[in-house]
Amino acid sequence: SSSCTPIRATLFPGDGIGPEIAESVKQVFRDAEVPIEWEEHFVGDQIDPRTQSFLTWESLESVRQNRVGLKGPMATPIGKGHRSLNLTLRKELNLYANVRPCYSLPGYKTRYDDVNLITIRENTEGEYSGLEHQVVRGVVESLKIITRQASLRVAEYAFHYAKTHGRERVSAIHKANIMQKTDGLFLKCCREVAEKYPDIKYEEVVIDNCCMMLVKNPALFDVLVMPNLYGDIISDLCAGLVGGLGLTPSCNIGEGGIALAEAVHGSAPDIAGKNLANPTALLLSAVTMLRHLEFNDKAERIQNAILNTIAEGKYRTADLGGKSTTSDFTKAICDHL
Ligand code: NAD
Repeated sequence: SSSCTPIRATLFPGDGIGPEIAESVKQVFRDAEVPIEWEEHFVGDQIDPRTQSFLTWESLESVRQNRVGLKGPMATPIGKGHRSLNLTLRKELNLYANVRPCYSLPGYKTRYDDVNLITIRENTEGEYSGLEHQVVRGVVESLKIITRQASLRVAEYAFHYAKTHGRERVSAIHKANIMQKTDGLFLKCCREVAEKYPDIKYEEVVIDNCCMMLVKNPALFDVLVMPNLYGDIISDLCAGLVGGLGLTPSCNIGEGGIALAEAVHGSAPDIAGKNLANPTALLLSAVTMLRHLEFNDKAERIQNAILNTIAEGKYRTADLGGKSTTSDFTKAICDHL
């Protein structure tokens, strides 16, 4: 990835505060001279019969072609007869891993100063397979599906991530003492992959113990990989350790190396259009996209500018206790580049 060949990336500004924080990303990328050409796509107000959703086929094709994209928050339209936008993206692009870096922001005080971990969540099966039914009146059943193929795929991604990001250890999070077959298979797959990465330490931690350790001393962890439901819960727990969803980036990895980065928060309709939103989560998500593209220098430079702006404390948005507008905060980041 040389810095002179521009790369096309799909951008979904999204709803509510989405366009405002997407503007912030575009401005910071422009000022940092990131060689990315944004291809903007908007969610329509008509259902596209080809996707059965408000996302058009052309939008999905754009991500498939470009293989990288950034997604702002999308408000879930109420009504029947269509698929949720996030579900459509996940299914159509086969986004099998959700990756969330979680680190303490210097200068933004939380209970811990030394969090620096990555959660990697299997995103396609487990308890989220949508297979629930009533057996007889008063008895319902929900099927938890774990497959060798999906478990190997996410484990492989976790170890590859650890290796390419200078991480030392991968912890597989499980409850295989109770869920012997399902979590047992998940662990077996993690062990198999671990053998191919002798330089990366591998350990297995039971989910309940993992929660206690995270709350007592999050610095104990490096890269965590886990099935869908545990990942859903643990990744939010970790976001809470460093200051909440407004600061937390994420990236979804799809089959064939697709990366779709997104902020974890929603469209914040209460502050939309008021120039009050904090663009940090989307900006840091864009940074994960740059790291995926191995534009590591640009990623480092932008991440430092964001962290330095927050640490300096002169320009902060209201959610971080400051008085700055989205545009003033963005300008301060550009000045720190
Ligand atoms: P939300 O995250 O939009 O808002 C929760 C609170 O956090 C609000 O007070 C909001 O003002 C604040 N907040 C969120 N992001 C912020 C930011 N960047 N800067 C400053 N403050 C911020 O959650 P919600 O209200 O439950 O959901 C609103 C809409 O967003 C719903 O339609 C929901 O479906 C959608 N949503 C989308 C996604 C996604 O696209 N990934 C995720 C969650 C919610």
